[in-house]
Amino acid sequence: MLPLNKLHQAVSQAGGEGLFEKLEAVYEQVPDTECEKCAICCTVPQPAYIIEYLNMFRYVNANMPGQWPDLLERAIRYYFLELVDAGQRCPFLDSDNACRVYEARPFTCRMYGLSGNKVSSEDMRGNMQSLVEKYRREHGIELPGEIVDFELPQCQKVRIVNGKNKKPRELAPLLIADIGLLEQFFVPPPVLDSQYTFVPYVNHLVMGVVSEGARFRRARVMKEYLESGRSELLEGYVEKFSQSGI
Ligand code: SF4
Ligand code: SF4
Repeated sequence: MLPLNKLHQAVSQAGGEGLFEKLEAVYEQVPDTECEKCAICCTVPQPAYIIEYLNMFRYVNANMPGQWPDLLERAIRYYFLELVDAGQRCPFLDSDNACRVYEARPFTCRMYGLSGNKVSSEDMRGNMQSLVEKYRREHGIELPGEIVDFELPQCQKVRIVNGKNKKPRELAPLLIADIGLLEQFFVPPPVLDSQYTFVPYVNHLVMGVVSEGARFRRARVMKEYLESGRSELLEGYVEKFSQSGI
């Protein structure tokens, strides 16, 4: 993950190489859509490539820099509490169920409801069950049933309003390959293939701002929250990092 002090340099390098224009050209091939704006899909933020994260970072800096403290606070809370608080939503979602970074949302959010779920419900249940067992065994934490049982539905309510040439299912792998080529500027192919860096914006952001050490303290925060509905450690992180000078 990119630490905060390297972010601006990475944005500037990507800009110099014309990568944001190339990313925009990929996005332009995705059909324009309308939907019911229920925001259920924003309950579980979709993963994004590093080039897309840099694009979002640049977008917020250019258009809404005053919103960083709020975005960072929500991102930190989401990162630590997503497995223990069913009320958590993507930090970029506003109170009207609109995406605050709509123009810079990642490809996976743009394609949601268009190309089907790449990950099957069975795989998702399997991953969640592994997490349940890991937290029980390693930390003595019982994850709440409503979170364990939640399944992101396949959305049938997306309407294409401006269809482009190809069908979304045929288009998706081609466009992913195009973004993968841009991503190689930052990530060598073996790492790219491992999907280690293909994580939601919120994870990119928290790892960069709070540092990778956050990962090791996550269980402690979760335990405190489950026991008392509040975590002093989490409040300390929010106070210290939400005002980070981005
Ligand atoms: S894509 Fe579907 S799940 Fe997501 S906000 Fe629109 S209607 Fe709701
Ligand atoms: S980035 Fe925007 S569209 Fe994607 S999950 Fe978050 S709020 Fe929803």
